[in-house]
Amino acid sequence: MSVSHWKRSPKPTTESKSDTVVIGAGITGLAAAYELALLGQRVTILERHTVGSGASSRNAGFLMRGLAECYAHAAKDLGRDTAKLVWRWSEENLALLKERYNIESLASYQARPSSIVAMSPGEAEELRESAVLLTADGFDCHLQTTGDDTLWRNLKPEVALINPHDAAINPWDLVCTMRDTLLRAFPDRVSLIENTEVTGFSDSGDAVLAATATYPCQSVLVCTNAWASELLPDLGSSIKPNRGQMLALRADNARLDASYYLNRGSEYIRQTADGSIILGGMRTLRETEEQTASDATTEALQHALDEYARKVLQTDFKVIARWAGTMGFSPSGLPIIAKANEHPGNIWLCAGLTGHGMSLGARTAQQAVRCLATGTESPFAVI
Ligand SMILES: Cc1cc2nc3c(=O)[nH]c(=O)nc-3n(C[C@H](O)[C@H](O)[C@H](O)COP(=O)(O)OP(=O)(O)OC[C@H]3O[C@@H](n4cnc5c(N)ncnc54)[C@H](O)[C@@H]3O)c2cc1C
Repeated sequence: MSVSHWKRSPKPTTESKSDTVVIGAGITGLAAAYELALLGQRVTILERHTVGSGASSRNAGFLMRGLAECYAHAAKDLGRDTAKLVWRWSEENLALLKERYNIESLASYQARPSSIVAMSPGEAEELRESAVLLTADGFDCHLQTTGDDTLWRNLKPEVALINPHDAAINPWDLVCTMRDTLLRAFPDRVSLIENTEVTGFSDSGDAVLAATATYPCQSVLVCTNAWASELLPDLGSSIKPNRGQMLALRADNARLDASYYLNRGSEYIRQTADGSIILGGMRTLRETEEQTASDATTEALQHALDEYARKVLQTDFKVIARWAGTMGFSPSGLPIIAKANEHPGNIWLCAGLTGHGMSLGARTAQQAVRCLATGTESPFAVI
């Protein structure tokens, strides 16, 4: 997306000094700016396009506990304590969004269980094991073996693991609310500057450089997720852009009682407050093609989503929107918070939210600000 000369600053300038410049105005950057302002800092947010133009306004709107992989797998792959911590973070993330941004008052907010569905005996076993471990670790959950909504009637899953206290929301609503709350709470401390692409840092790391201005600062927090490697080629290189494609449709008589997560998170489908169905995924069908920062939809993948909608809904439907967005996948699936030692200055990265930035972004940003302000390390190792 290009930006006209007219929407940029008229001539090169040096802006007044901020304590911290946050780069990227998605969920993570907006939440980080709030945390920094709470500490009394003067904050400038620089956004290449406009607020939420990255994944934050293009996602499926699941505010779901945990990561893409099930708890049993996460406990094996990441260690039980790490799995427990990240699952806790996702619960704290939802609590933070409710408390700080009052998201329960938004028309698009739905208190909705999410349902992780197993279609094969192998997956069913993983979910049963996950339920045992989750319960032992103090997380409320249960298994479901029958149901009478559209998905249960048509797909007949083996079993589903239910997170009863999850929610769903229109992500654009969420991002706008985060922006408005931030600017209302800290009108004198926070500046949000859109249509300004950061191109790099001064040699000593005491300023952020854009084409039209230089932004002096003491610290920098890079919240550019899928684009992390553009500004931090070493630290950011482990974060890989992955496109997610989606569609929204209307189908008479379709009813989904939960937000569904299928095939180990490969497909996801939910119903919004106005009855529309939101469906995304099938990325693993064309994995290489989808490893891109492009947000263009493709015919092949959209066709696969249409087919999947037909299978789940088994009724006529009308597609009302098709779109795509780019996620930043970290190697472990855990968010990355780390100081960028590749560059002088106090420059930190908070990115790699993988497919779960709605569920983790605000809590992760809170931790990133603690790390940046105190020089401490993230509880999650950078792999
Ligand atoms: C199709 C899809 C479905 C998803 N579904 C869900 C879901 O249901 N639940 C969930 O929890 N997560 C979901 N996700 C993941 C979630 O959307 C992301 O993890 C989250 O939005 C990441 O937020 P962020 O602020 O870190 O990054 P982003 O929202 O991507 O923001 C990064 C920002 O940085 C800006 N930027 C980049 N480079 C520069 C630069 N040089 N200068 C200035 N600005 C720059 C970009 O323009 C962008 O606005 C989904 C993602 C996709 C794509």
